This record gives sequence, structure tokens and C-alpha cells, in this order.
Amino acid sequence: MPLNLGFLDLMMVIGACDRILVMKRLLKSLCMRGLSYVLGDESAKVVFYHDVGFAHTRMGTTFELLQAHVDAARKYGWTFSTGKPSLNHELSICFDDGFRGILDARSFFLREKIRPTIFIAVSLVGKPHYLTWDEILSLQDDGFIFQSHTWSHQTLVGPMIDESPAEERSDVWFDRELRQSREFLADRLGCPVTALCFPAGHFSDDVIKRAGKAGYSHLYASFPGKIPINDDATGKPLVIPRCLVQGLAVADFEAVLRGGMNPLRRRYLKQHYFRETK
Ligand SMILES: [Zn+2]
Repeated sequence: MPLNLGFLDLMMVIGACDRILVMKRLLKSLCMRGLSYVLGDESAKVVFYHDVGFAHTRMGTTFELLQAHVDAARKYGWTFSTGKPSLNHELSICFDDGFRGILDARSFFLREKIRPTIFIAVSLVGKPHYLTWDEILSLQDDGFIFQSHTWSHQTLVGPMIDESPAEERSDVWFDRELRQSREFLADRLGCPVTALCFPAGHFSDDVIKRAGKAGYSHLYASFPGKIPINDDATGKPLVIPRCLVQGLAVADFEAVLRGGMNPLRRRYLKQHYFRETK
């Protein structure tokens, strides 16, 4: 039977899809909040955003909401650490990609005595909407931490971020994305670079191995979970779980702090961890 959809029918279908999406979000939010009270997980956490405001990307968080997140964390006794947190009630904040909105929040972070870690991809620095080298060095002077988000910001495994023809993920390609980006950044920043954030959160065992060989000790991912303890004996870099909290309502953010996102770990891993090695 031919499917003869008019404009109104189409709008109804879109409306229904929107409603399903809203329902799914609502359900996720309710589950997270409910589970967080049961779990009451007060262990260290890492949360991440992409930008402050929406002038440079759609992946922003308003300044007011960011402030509300910080206020909520403080209200429940959380302290802010730079780098990897380890103690209960220790929270670390990251921003991915190096968007320019962070400049607008600079005085806020200084006032709050919070120094986020910002992961930058070498090839994006200075492009429209991204921080320039001068701005990065100026923020670094104020204590902001900069670490690697690879050279090109292309995913290291799995589907590519954009639709440009996939460069072959050869050893030479990996060397530029991992080792050269780390060394280039360390040279520009004048300090060691030891942390890598996986573009789009995609990783595999092969990527972990390559990142370790390229000199990284800490690999920041995009799935919830407990922060692992340093174990130099393994010689392997640590994979650090992080929760994406950009745009989250304050009650959902509080649920994340209490571990409400932890039960979704497997679902997030399914999206971000690739079993294939190539
Ligand atoms: Zn990114």
C-alpha cells in the first residue's frame, strides 16, 4: 500500500518523535534521581562540559546553570580538584575541545577557586570559535590545565566524527594523533602533557595500548563509573570515567554526584568502547 504522507501527517510524525524523545529523557532523569538516593555513591567523580554559553557551539551550558551546578556541589560538601580526583566528595571539571566560551567564565572559575582541565585538539586551536594559543597560555597562567584531545580531533576507533574521507588509521596516523600531539602541546605549553581525552569518547584496547606507548598515563573517557586508583605496577594508562553533565537540570546534576548515572555504565560503554582492535 503506497504511503501517502502530507505535510500535516509529517508534522504529526515529527511531533510524536519529539514526544518520545522527551519521554525518554524524562524517564532517564527519573531513574537517575531515584537510583542516586539508593546508591548514595560519594566517591570521587569527573564531570565534563563543552562550553559556557551557546555563542560557539550548540553543546553549551548557560553560565547560570554552570553556577547552579557548582553551588549544588558545594552545598553537598564536594570540593574541586585539578586533574584526577581520588577522595570521596572530590570533583574534577573538564571542558572538551577548547571553545572560546570558557573565556567568559574565566573570572567565575578564578573567584570559585576552580581550575578546570581543558582538552584541546592541536588542529582546532585558533580556528573560529576555538581558543587561540595566546588565550590558552594566558588561561594557563591563571592555573587552567590543558591536556591533549589528539591532533585532528578525529575518532581513534569506530565511526569518524565528520564525513570527510577517513584517513587510514595507520601507525603513522596514530603517531601524529597521539605522540606528536602530546609532544607539540607540551612544547607550546612548556609543561608535561600526560592526559588524553578520546575524541567522541571512542576507544578500544588497541587505542589504550597505543596511548600508553605514546606517553599518556591518564585517558579520559565518556562513561560513568568509579575513578580507578593509580597502579604503576601494571604500566598501563588509567582509563578515567567521566559523566557528561552539560545542560543537565540541577536535580539531575546532583543525582550524577550521588552516582545516579553509574547503572548506565554498560549502556555508555556499548556506545564508546569498541572491541575490534583496528
Ligand atoms: Zn571533542
